[in-house]
Amino acid sequence: MSYKPNLFGLGSGSLKTLAEAAGQPVFRANQLFEWLYKKRVSSLDEMTNLPKAWRAALAESHVIQHLEYTRKLQSEDGSVKYIFQLDDGSEIESVYMPMAKGVTLCLSSQVGCAQACSFCLTAKMGFIRNLSAAEIMGQITAIMKDQTFDAPFNVVMMGMGEPLLNLAQLQVSLEVMTAGLGLSPKRITVSTSGHVRNLEKLAVGPVVPRIAISLNASTDEQRNELMPVNLKWDIQTLMDTCRALPIKARERITFEYVLIDQFNDSDADAKRLTKWVRGIRCKVNLIPFNETESLSYRQPPLARIQRFHELLNRAGVVNTIRWSKGRDIGAACGQLARPTAREGARLRAH
Ligand code: SAH
Repeated sequence: MSYKPNLFGLGSGSLKTLAEAAGQPVFRANQLFEWLYKKRVSSLDEMTNLPKAWRAALAESHVIQHLEYTRKLQSEDGSVKYIFQLDDGSEIESVYMPMAKGVTLCLSSQVGCAQACSFCLTAKMGFIRNLSAAEIMGQITAIMKDQTFDAPFNVVMMGMGEPLLNLAQLQVSLEVMTAGLGLSPKRITVSTSGHVRNLEKLAVGPVVPRIAISLNASTDEQRNELMPVNLKWDIQTLMDTCRALPIKARERITFEYVLIDQFNDSDADAKRLTKWVRGIRCKVNLIPFNETESLSYRQPPLARIQRFHELLNRAGVVNTIRWSKGRDIGAACGQLARPTAREGARLRAH
């Protein structure tokens, strides 16, 4: 079987190169982009405003292949976890979440993850490979086909993987989400464990999404234990980078802070966190830790979570408690993992 590259997933730069190579004017590449991502047709035959001969040549050299899900799990809270089997047999997961203010899709950027965060189940898979833009984008188009929801919706790159370690394909996906699917960059959030060099690159475009940083700790000692990336770029370096990012006035960086019982949830932690974020236009999302049997970390009691929230409020730090969706189907923050990690880690039902 001969391998043909997929047109779906190519950004405007690659499409222009294709057009040029075929002696076609640049506007043909724009037309192709529209068919692929605005109209989302699945065959070249349907691209009626493109010259027949070029369509035939493209059909010879390329395929148009959309990602399809293999299984889905419905949560009692309305969210749905989609499982995709990729061409090489590896699997990724995405989550559809109906929220008060519209739909949010949580997407994966890699198969597995190399970050080795000690509290996250995806890390237990290890790193397998980067997703292509077709695979990142394909999660959205597959879910759009399955669910009826109104545009505009939100996208969060908070599924499996470290998006900033797949920057090139992430950026192609961002272009397609905005120029193709019509999403405002404000509706797309890229979350990172704190890769400061790539964060600086992401923040200068071409498409600049909202940025979320998984901070999760108030001291380097804690963060070193939770997130080995901190050994390379410590909290000070990370915060200095955030402070210097060219974030537009009125926009805020989000800091995710996973609250873990008797680990990072004390009054002193709240105080240190307040100091770290002082002077940065930001909001803090407090994520009560989602427990799994294979990990010994625990979720703090509700009163502790509320106290932490209150302490930040009193200090003037904008913050919300984010209860993860889809815990009953293993779709909550830190629970996405296929399939080896999951076998060793039966999820706790809450
Ligand atoms: N690698 C990126 C994208 C993943 S985002 C990043 O680190 O930002 C996933 C979010 O879920 C992160 O903020 C992480 O801190 C959080 N998370 C991981 N495991 C969790 C768990 N067990 N309970 C609650 N949140 C968790």
